[in-house]
Order: sequence, then structure tokens, then C-alpha cells
Amino acid sequence: MKYKTILLFGAPGAGKGTQGKILGTIPHFFHCACGDVFRSLSASNPLAKIFIEYTGRGQLVPDEPTVKLWRNFIKNSERVGRFHPKEDVLVLDGIPRNLHQAKMLDGVLDVRAIFFLHCKNFNSLVQRLQRRALKENRLDDANLDVIRHRLKVYEQETEPLLSFYGPKLVHRIDSTQSPTKVLRDVLGKIEKAIR
Ligand code: ADP
Repeated sequence: MKYKTILLFGAPGAGKGTQGKILGTIPHFFHCACGDVFRSLSASNPLAKIFIEYTGRGQLVPDEPTVKLWRNFIKNSERVGRFHPKEDVLVLDGIPRNLHQAKMLDGVLDVRAIFFLHCKNFNSLVQRLQRRALKENRLDDANLDVIRHRLKVYEQETEPLLSFYGPKLVHRIDSTQSPTKVLRDVLGKIEKAIR
């Protein structure tokens, strides 16, 4: 059985996490942010070391361990009764993040819609990330070179990802709006997408 899924796409700082967390509070929606899954690893887990190494350079963690970790997280969420795949819509944020991951997950995801939180203003993204660095103590948000590299990786990976899923599924939403307006735009489209 495939998971009924909504994907949140957008550059680092575009607000995927903010929207994903709100959607995850609605009954029958389950939010999973891949970055949060990595950050919840205990320091003794060998993958935590790999995560710090790659994010410190603004790079993506290699696809195989990432997808494996994600699968384990989802299976575990099912086992403990937090995620009910038959009734719940899965809201994914931060995965799949490139074409290879999308192909790896193709057999398990029934993607109903993609909300592409898009932002042309590089400076506003950088400002959001630097604010987040202070609030959430994230090293990968603090360094300007690392941020630049992450945004570059994001730009390279996103086009092939969007064309893999095709234009019918993609809803472009202006992420420079206030979070409430972004949410309004997402909610305006979500019902039809998951029906
Ligand atoms: P952001 O979207 O702002 O980059 P995330 O919390 O989603 O923040 O991700 C933080 C970092 O974790 C990424 O820069 C990347 O190194 C790593 N990461 C998260 N998700 C993935 C993924 N699906 N594949 C590979 N690396 C990932």
C-alpha cells in the first residue's frame, strides 16, 4: 500500500517547516520533516556524525542512509500508533530532495500534490536562516558560505524533481507572503488534492 502524500518543496528558509508543523496538527495529517528526523538522532548513532559532517558543508546527506532512516522513522511511527497510513495524509518536508530519492520512494508514495513554496528573493531567505540560526541553534544556518552552498544545491536539485512529478501536481505558492497567507493558499488547494 502506498502512502497518500503531500510534498512541501521550497528553498531552505522558505517556510516548509512552519507550514508542515501547522498541517500536522490537523486530524488525519501526519507531518514528517526529514531534517528533524536527522536532528533527533542520538549523538552515539553513526549517522548523526555523517549528518553533522555533510550539513556543516551545506551538502545533502547521501541518499541511501537518508531514505533508510526515513523508512525506519515512518515504520516506527506506524508501530507506535502516531501515523495511521490508511486514514492519514502524509505531509513530507525535506524528502524527497533530489531525483534519485524521488525514484527510490516512488513505490511507497502516492503523491497527490506538491506545494512549492517559492521565493525569488535570495536575501530574504538568508535573513530567515540567520534568524533561525540564533533561535534554534543550527550551525548550518549560521555561516553565509554554507547557506549559499545549500541554496545552490537546492536550485540544482529542484527542477528535475518538479519535472519528475509533472506540472499537474505542482502548486506554486509565494513564500514571501506572511505565514497565514501561505497557509490560506495551501488550505485552499489541499482538499481537492487529497479527495
Ligand atoms: P533546510 O530545508 O533549511 O535545509 P532541513 O532541516 O530540511 O533544513 O535540512 C537540514 C539539512 O539536513 C540539509 O541541509 C541536509 O544536509 C540534510 N537533509 C535533510 N533532508 C535531507 C534529505 N532528504 N536528503 C539528504 N540530506 C538531507
